Amino acid sequence: MLAAVRLISEAAELAARRHNGMARKGRGDEPYINHLAEVANLLAAATDGADAELVAAGWLHDVIEDSDTTREELAQKFSDRVAALVVECTDDMSLPKAERRRRQVIDAPKKSASARLIKIADKISNIGARIHADPTGEERDDLLDYTGWAEQVVAGCRGGNSWLDTKFDDAVRTARASL
Ligand code: ZN
Repeated sequence: MLAAVRLISEAAELAARRHNGMARKGRGDEPYINHLAEVANLLAAATDGADAELVAAGWLHDVIEDSDTTREELAQKFSDRVAALVVECTDDMSLPKAERRRRQVIDAPKKSASARLIKIADKISNIGARIHADPTGEERDDLLDYTGWAEQVVAGCRGGNSWLDTKFDDAVRTARASL
């Protein structure tokens, strides 16, 4: 229990530092850390707090992609499993966006069960941030485009946690109803 609290607390602090000054895409240009907090909290709720490494990986899931953090550093500071989960959630940023998106759809079913939960939580959070009360044409297009792609990725991830699957379906329904 004490080790779990420390693990998650250290993950949150490292994520806050490494994503410092970054804004997330979507409503109100919220600080990036809001996205990480939301993903970590969805994972904690989905697993009823039973998997500290999963929640820590939720805080850290974008840290290799968005900063100069390495797998080795995460393995040393946290654990091999936390590092492996973050790597599983890291896109190859040398590829064009369309190819990265295509690979996420293809690769989703090949990921570990825990990485698939992180992917679903990530998509729930990202759809939510794209829902606007009074969307512009561009915002509508972005939400439609993102949601359609997220459904394809999540189709290859679902089945491991019914609470998270339902949350995702709710997010998609809310997104479509907002258009
Ligand atoms: Zn993310």
